[in-house]
Amino acid sequence: MSTAIRFDNSYARELKGFYVPWEGAEVPEPRMVLFNRRLADALGLDVDALDSPQGAAFFTGAAAPEGAEPLAQVYAGHQFGGFSPQLGDGRALLVGEILDPGGRRWDLHLKGSGRTPFSRGGDGKAVLAPVLREYLIGEAMYALGIPTTRALAAATTGERIVRDGGPKPGAVLARIASSHLRIGTFQFFAARGQMDHVAQLVGYALRRHAPELANADDPALELLRLVRDRQAALVAQWMGVGFIHGVMNTDNTTISGETLDYGPCAFMDRYDPATVFSSIDRHGRYAYGNQPAIMQWNLARLAEAILPLIRAEDEAAGVQIATDEIEAFAPLYRAEWVRVMRAKLGLEGGDARLADDLFAAMSGEGVDFTRFFRALGRVMREGSAASGDLRVLFDHPEAIDGWLGRWSERVAAGGPGAAERADAMDRVNPVYVPRNHLVEAALQAAEAHGELGPLATLLEVLQDPYRERAGYEGFADPAPDDFGPYVTYCGT
Ligand code: AMP
Ligand code: MG
Repeated sequence: MSTAIRFDNSYARELKGFYVPWEGAEVPEPRMVLFNRRLADALGLDVDALDSPQGAAFFTGAAAPEGAEPLAQVYAGHQFGGFSPQLGDGRALLVGEILDPGGRRWDLHLKGSGRTPFSRGGDGKAVLAPVLREYLIGEAMYALGIPTTRALAAATTGERIVRDGGPKPGAVLARIASSHLRIGTFQFFAARGQMDHVAQLVGYALRRHAPELANADDPALELLRLVRDRQAALVAQWMGVGFIHGVMNTDNTTISGETLDYGPCAFMDRYDPATVFSSIDRHGRYAYGNQPAIMQWNLARLAEAILPLIRAEDEAAGVQIATDEIEAFAPLYRAEWVRVMRAKLGLEGGDARLADDLFAAMSGEGVDFTRFFRALGRVMREGSAASGDLRVLFDHPEAIDGWLGRWSERVAAGGPGAAERADAMDRVNPVYVPRNHLVEAALQAAEAHGELGPLATLLEVLQDPYRERAGYEGFADPAPDDFGPYVTYCGT
C-alpha cells in the first residue's frame, strides 16, 4: 500500500503558519460509494489498491496514507458581502499533494472528515446526498470542459448525522484540485496586517499556477491579472451552459480559476437572468445574471488584500493601478462571453449584437436554455425546415422569428458547409446537463434506498454531454410540470 499515492507536500513544507496539522475523525465503518478509477489512473495512482476497504479508510480520513501530511488550511472570506475574518477548513483536510505522471501537482482534499480548530459551531461532517451532488456536478462540469475541482471518491462513514431534522448517512468527498488557494486565503493574512505572509502566498501561488511569472518584477500585480483573466474565462463558460454557482463567496473563489465548492449550485432550465436556486440567497445576490459582476467584486477584494505589495510610487498610485486592473475585468469578461456565444451560435466573427439580441428575444419566454442551442444547431444543419423544434420552446413562438431570420441569413443556415458548422456547434452545446429533477431523483434513490443505479447512469450520461445517444432521450427532457420550483440547500 505504500506506493498507492506518492505525495510531495509543498503547502505543508513552505507555508508553515498558514495551517494547522490535523487528522481526520474516527470513522466507524468506512465504505466506498463511488471511486473515480479513470481520474485515479490519470493521476498515476495505484487504482486497484485504492479501490478497496483501505482506500475507503483513506478517503474518509479514517487513516492517512503513507507520505500524507494532513492539515486544515486557514482562510477568511466575504460571505454574501459581509467579511468573516476567520473561516478555514472547518470540515475539511488537505491530505497532501500528488504529482501526476506529467509532473503536475494536485491537492488531495477531504470534505466531511470531522471537526478542526476552524469548525466554529459546526460538527465537521458532511452527509451523503450533498457529497454525491458535488461528485456528480463536478464531474459533469469537467466533461463539459469547464475548469473545476474533481471528485476522486465518495465514501460513507457508517455514522448517522442529523440534518434538516432527520438522521442522514455521513459521508466524505475526496476531491482533487490544482490547489485550494482562495481569495479568502489572502484576505485572512491581509486583514491581520501580515503582509509578509501575503507576499509569501503570492510567491507560492505564482510558482504553483504560473511558474513563468514567479520571477516577475511585480509579482502581486501579475497574480491579480492572472486570477482576473482566469476567472473572466471561467464565469463566461458558466454562463454558456447556464450554470449558477450559488455561493460565490470570496472563500469559494479560487486562485487557480477552477470552479470550487458545489453546494447549492444548479443548472438553469428556463432562461431567466434572475434565476436563483439557493435557499440562503434570499436577495438574489448570486443569481445567474449577477455572476460576472459578483466575480469582479470578488476580484476587487483580492486587489485590496494584495494592494500594499503592488509596486507603485505611493499608495494613491497603487490604488489607481489596482483599480485599472479590476475595471479591465468587464471588457475581458465581455470578450470571453462573446467568444463562448459565437461558438454556441455558429458565428465566425463579429456579431456580438446578434448574441445580445438573442437574450433579449428569449427574455420572459420560458425557453429551455440547453435545448435552445441544440435546436439551433439543427436549424443550422437543415435550414428553416427544422425551425419548428426551436420555435416551440418559446411561450410565444413568434418572439424568436425576427432574430432567427437575421441569424439564418448571417450564417447561411442549411447552405453549403452548414453541416460542418452544425457539428462544431454540437461540440459546444451540450445535449445533457445535470438537470435538477434528474439530480434530485438520483440522490434521493442513493440516500433513501441505498440504490446507486440511477446515479451511475446519470454520471455515465453526463460524462459525454455533447453526443446525443440512443436510449438517453429522457435525460435531455425538461423537468415534468409537477416537479415545481426548485430550491437547493447548502447541505452542510
Ligand atoms: P462552505 O459554505 O462549504 O463554503 O463553507 C463555509 C465555511 O463553513 C468553511 O469554513 C467551512 O469549513 C465551514 N463549514 C461548513 N460546514 C461545516 C460543518 N458542518 N462543520 C464545520 N464547519 C463547516
Ligand atoms: Mg467553501
